[in-house]
Amino acid sequence: MRRLVILGSTGSIGEQALELVAAADDLELVAISAERRWERLIAQAQQHGVRRVAIADEQCAELARAAWDGEVLSGPEALATLIVAAEPDLVLNAIVGSAGLAATVITLSEGIDLALANKESLVVGGELVIELAAATGARLLPVDSEHSALYQLIASENGQPPGTIERLTLTASGGPFRGRRREDLEAVTVEEALDHPTWQMGGKISIDSATLMNKGLELIEAHQLFGVAYNDLEVVVHPQSIVHAMISLADGSSLAHLGYPDMKVPIAYALHWPQRTKLELAPLDLEQLGSLNFEAVDNEAFPCLSLALAAGREGGTAPCVLNAANEVAVAAFLDRRCAFLQIAEVIEATLDDAEIMQSYSFETLIDADRAARASAAEHLVTLA
Ligand code: NAD
Ligand code: MG
Repeated sequence: MRRLVILGSTGSIGEQALELVAAADDLELVAISAERRWERLIAQAQQHGVRRVAIADEQCAELARAAWDGEVLSGPEALATLIVAAEPDLVLNAIVGSAGLAATVITLSEGIDLALANKESLVVGGELVIELAAATGARLLPVDSEHSALYQLIASENGQPPGTIERLTLTASGGPFRGRRREDLEAVTVEEALDHPTWQMGGKISIDSATLMNKGLELIEAHQLFGVAYNDLEVVVHPQSIVHAMISLADGSSLAHLGYPDMKVPIAYALHWPQRTKLELAPLDLEQLGSLNFEAVDNEAFPCLSLALAAGREGGTAPCVLNAANEVAVAAFLDRRCAFLQIAEVIEATLDDAEIMQSYSFETLIDADRAARASAAEHLVTLA
């Protein structure tokens, strides 16, 4: 039995992971957490026989305590206490945003294996996170579909001489606005931006997919996870989301990872690693698909990808600032307080103003994140 903790269990990734847990006989769920949706969290705990939960919002935690006789942790130490007390073999971090960094740091510091959906952890504190995993021997298993694909492709070349893998390619669906010009994006609505053509996801990552910031965050994630230079990383738009990633090898061959877009596949891979598990999914039908299309990214219409790449290349606290500004701008867009094209403008202005530090600690990152949020909030007002 593998003892599993799921953080962010009420979200899109969290709910899909719970379905996999219910169907698996080798996974035992021992603790779960959420930010605010305490009624759903308690229902999950009851369904899965979990007796300990953490809730980030203090008021919601109070309501949960009044309604349920299990242990409800809250406050700044809640996640650390939850993770340590649960004695898990694996933690799935499915929290959204830089709020997930602390959980990543706690898990890896304890030497516990981490299934990481929270890509923001690697964007904000990549060096720190990778060093921690190396120092404690904890394994980092990516849940992001492209990175799960790359992890598997790279593992298939184990034992080859250094330099065998020359290039990593991540595919991007292009989001709901693929093919539109910049001027066609001025008046797009929240509903249009949330309507992703191939993936069903939480609100924040759906907007990131519409701006292509998601692919920018994923470039930084890949750079950190696989130690690959930005020059050797590439993004190609692939509207069907069937090819998730590809590696190009020294002998001229390329290996790709294919499958219908379904997050259960990479989640299950991380939860069951190194075993593969049987999922009741339709086999890939190439005849029915007919053709797969690929095209270049339109950097003028979707400037967020270049902004992310530049921040990644700059390094230090630049990706942390980029991420914080993006979170503030995306929240404002979802709240209808800013227009779609302003998301990139706020991020660029925040990066221009920020003092980037080349080396950082966990505390430096918290400060840089806070300062960038304040700065982005000001730019939101002045750019409006
Ligand atoms: P979501 O918004 O559906 O769910 C987020 C979860 O995080 C919720 O359970 C929420 O309660 C919890 N949470 C939010 N803020 C918190 C806080 N301050 N403290 C504790 N918990 C908090 O998000 P999602 O779409 O499931 O995405 C989760 C993560 O996985 C993101 O980093 C996203 O980029 C990544 N990811 C998601 C998908 C997908 O298909 N949804 C695919 C690849 C990667
Ligand atoms: Mg992805």
